Amino acid sequence: MTESILELRSVSRVYRMAKTEVPVLESIDLNIDRGQLVGLVGPSGSGKSTLLHTAGLLERPQSGEVWVNGRNCSDLGDKDRTFVRRSELGFVYQFHHLLPEFTAIDNVATPLFLSGWNRKKARERAAFLLEQLGLVDRLNHQPMELSGGEQQRVAIARALSNSPRLLIADEPTGNLDKVTTERVFEQLIKLGREEGLCMLIATHNLELTKHMDAVFTIEDKRLTEYSS
Ligand code: ADP
Ligand code: MG
Repeated sequence: MTESILELRSVSRVYRMAKTEVPVLESIDLNIDRGQLVGLVGPSGSGKSTLLHTAGLLERPQSGEVWVNGRNCSDLGDKDRTFVRRSELGFVYQFHHLLPEFTAIDNVATPLFLSGWNRKKARERAAFLLEQLGLVDRLNHQPMELSGGEQQRVAIARALSNSPRLLIADEPTGNLDKVTTERVFEQLIKLGREEGLCMLIATHNLELTKHMDAVFTIEDKRLTEYSS
């Protein structure tokens, strides 16, 4: 039996500017089951980040519902939404937002301390993930002492630290060269699959969609299946 991890039901988003309204998403339905890897492609400005922020409970839709792991999060207050976000979701962005003063291992372990893990366990989990991503020799490097691809892999480890159900990645390799992109992406998917995650990944890079189970695009505010 399939298990729905993320479901958007008729989600609409409008940005209100000073005097105008900018509709971006209209009646979006999307379902992602456990273990599924779903891509979102399309030109800049088509609404990919808006959809990801809405699915990731960072922003609220004007109408429609967002369900995470069988729970309707639309009516939850901010505190409960933050709890769901911290416990069930992981995020990777185009720019890694690592803490510059912290080493790789501490960047990954810190969210775990903050959610109550003891220091030793958190560092073990962080080291495990960084090793899986090929960074066993980089645990004590600060972001400045890492290449772009390595920094992004630390960000991926951080997103996976709390064993989320759903990984949301917004152009996670958008800042990397071609060869590094392939490598980082393959590791992301391998680790994501091993951890049994479902993943929703926005990308400009159509090459990467070959790894995905389903690919969508946003055309005129509507979600449609992408065909290459
Ligand atoms: P993408 O990620 O596909 O490039 P976005 O979701 O960032 O697209 O943006 C979709 C549209 O919404 C764009 O036209 C953008 O200008 C508009 N938009 C995004 N964020 C805001 C905002 N905070 N306020 C007003 N308009 C916004
Ligand atoms: Mg975007």
